[in-house]
Amino acid sequence: METLLQSTSLVKRAYWLVRLRWIAIALLAAATFVAGKLFHVSLPAFALYFIAGLLVLYNFLLFDLLNYFTWGGRTASHITINRIITFQISADLFILTTILHYSGGIENPFFVYFVFHMIIASILLSSRSSYIQATLAAFLFGLMILLEYLGIISHHNLVGFVADTLYRDGLFVLGTFLILSTALYLVVYMTTSISEQLRKQQTGYERANTLLREKDHLKNEYVLRLTHDIRGHLAAIQGCLDIVGDQIVGPLNEKQTDLVQRAYRRTAKCMAFVTALLKLTRMKLSGKLEMEYFSLKNTIFNTIASAENRAASKSISLKYDIEPSVDEIYGEPVLIEEAIANLLFNAVRYTPEKGSIKLTAKDKGDSVLIQVSDTGIGIPQSEISKIFDEFYRADNARKVERDGTGLGLSIAKQVVERHGGKIWAENNQTAGSTFSFVLPKLSRKSGTA
Ligand code: ADP
Repeated sequence: METLLQSTSLVKRAYWLVRLRWIAIALLAAATFVAGKLFHVSLPAFALYFIAGLLVLYNFLLFDLLNYFTWGGRTASHITINRIITFQISADLFILTTILHYSGGIENPFFVYFVFHMIIASILLSSRSSYIQATLAAFLFGLMILLEYLGIISHHNLVGFVADTLYRDGLFVLGTFLILSTALYLVVYMTTSISEQLRKQQTGYERANTLLREKDHLKNEYVLRLTHDIRGHLAAIQGCLDIVGDQIVGPLNEKQTDLVQRAYRRTAKCMAFVTALLKLTRMKLSGKLEMEYFSLKNTIFNTIASAENRAASKSISLKYDIEPSVDEIYGEPVLIEEAIANLLFNAVRYTPEKGSIKLTAKDKGDSVLIQVSDTGIGIPQSEISKIFDEFYRADNARKVERDGTGLGLSIAKQVVERHGGKIWAENNQTAGSTFSFVLPKLSRKSGTA
């Protein structure tokens, strides 16, 4: 079907139409009041207020109908929503014609409001349906002015606003009809052309997006295979260096020992990098998390224990404040521990000697807020939005710590977001920075990412 919007946005547009109608109803009531009371234009006010009342009921009914089709996450089919919209627009044309009939017919300039209906139809419906709506509008308007002209139905004069003989002026009636009808078709033509272009663009973007996602998936599979292989080779090299370094295969002189140790350190760094990349790629590729109930408090204590030695070696004070109610949550404990550890290890790494680090965990009802604050080097303001990107390392961090993977925060971000949480970083007022993340207590019970 030649429609601009997909089902979900179509539902939103259907609600939008209902909202627009509330405005139209208010306008109708206000215009009737203002014209009658302030400008003393003679109007069948009762009939118009009655129509406004009926419109309120009708709009509530439509609202309920939409709720019925979308209730509890139900997704109504594209065709159903399309039918509801088509019905609404056609009904609105009938209603506008009725209102016009009771408020001066062709003498009421509000007939230009047919144009708005055509714009709405062209945005929401296919171009064929929009032309049908334009024909219906022209037909309804034409029929009303013809019947009034012929005296078959009564004409309600807008006494005090326009001369009350216009509706019987054949040339005026025909001219107005032709001008409005051509305007309606022109508006539909222009709006559907724009909508059509937008639709093509949107389809193009969607296709490009799918292609990108496929390419990304391929890239991840490639990286996974590669890192897995490299890791195997590195482990073998490390094993050999271990044996040589331990002088199991023969004694080494000082120079040889130094070279073997350097080779070992380099291999270990490479290993850390490859392992981090492997972890991140695995996480991106695997669709499911191994979720379970576990004690977040205990997980935090474990990470603090694993960071204590590192902190002590730099005389950094490591404090924590965990609210007693922070305990059981639903998630993947190993990954969450990894995310917290990455933040804590970074804090130690980027905080000079004798600094301090504080971890806090606060109960926020449905979620937990975890913050790691340090008195370290902080993050250059211009780079704060990039540090969660893969391989990104800020300039000041490179200066104090040559070896870094630029992957720790990406892993933490993946973990938090896959649990339905949010992670961010800020610089402190005085010194250092604070890394925070919010974790829902019952993140995605299904465990799917
Ligand atoms: P790595 O630490 O290996 O460089 P990460 O992904 O863990 O990689 O961190 C990315 C970058 O974020 C770091 O290079 C650094 O610029 C910045 N960063 C992370 N933690 C801190 C911190 N506690 N203080 C200052 N900068 C930090």
